[in-house]
Amino acid sequence: APFQVVDVHELLDSTLVMMGRKIGDRVRVVKDYDRSLPALPAYAAELNQVWTNLVDNALAAMGGEGTLTVRTSRREDRAVVEIGDTGVGIAPELLGRIFEPFFTTKPVGEGTGLGLDISWRIVVNKHRGDIQVESAPGDTRFRVLLPLVAPPL
Ligand code: ADP
Ligand code: MG
Repeated sequence: APFQVVDVHELLDSTLVMMGRKIGDRVRVVKDYDRSLPALPAYAAELNQVWTNLVDNALAAMGGEGTLTVRTSRREDRAVVEIGDTGVGIAPELLGRIFEPFFTTKPVGEGTGLGLDISWRIVVNKHRGDIQVESAPGDTRFRVLLPLVAPPL
């Protein structure tokens, strides 16, 4: 299937609406969008899956209370989408493993350990983008970088 031309902010907003019930009213959502970001070539439904995975993880890390930050910016020829949370954070020794399939720290039945594996494949393999993570207790950020111009197939 060909790339669509998508407005990343529309995708982020629709994900936040879809997840409204799960986000609840004790998590503050802060949006900081760079509105000059142009529409970009992407697979809309799959990117929504990425935002859903990242927001879901952020909510789990915050245990229902905290601040979820959704920020966009432009870095040279790429769009940057940052999903941040004020949750427990990721231990440094686990940072290298969280993208492995089936890696989870959640109780049996609550996590499949596939969210980040799938997100990585969507962003890196399918869009030729990148995912970066920075984490400290109370400040975790996942950054998704997406090319503004379609990569050669
Ligand atoms: P799952 O959510 O099913 O556990 P994921 O692949 O989505 O699987 O995430 C793997 C693991 O990475 C999680 O179990 C958790 O330990 C860690 N993780 C991911 N996102 C966050 C986050 N925002 N804060 C803290 N830990 C996280
Ligand atoms: Mg997950």
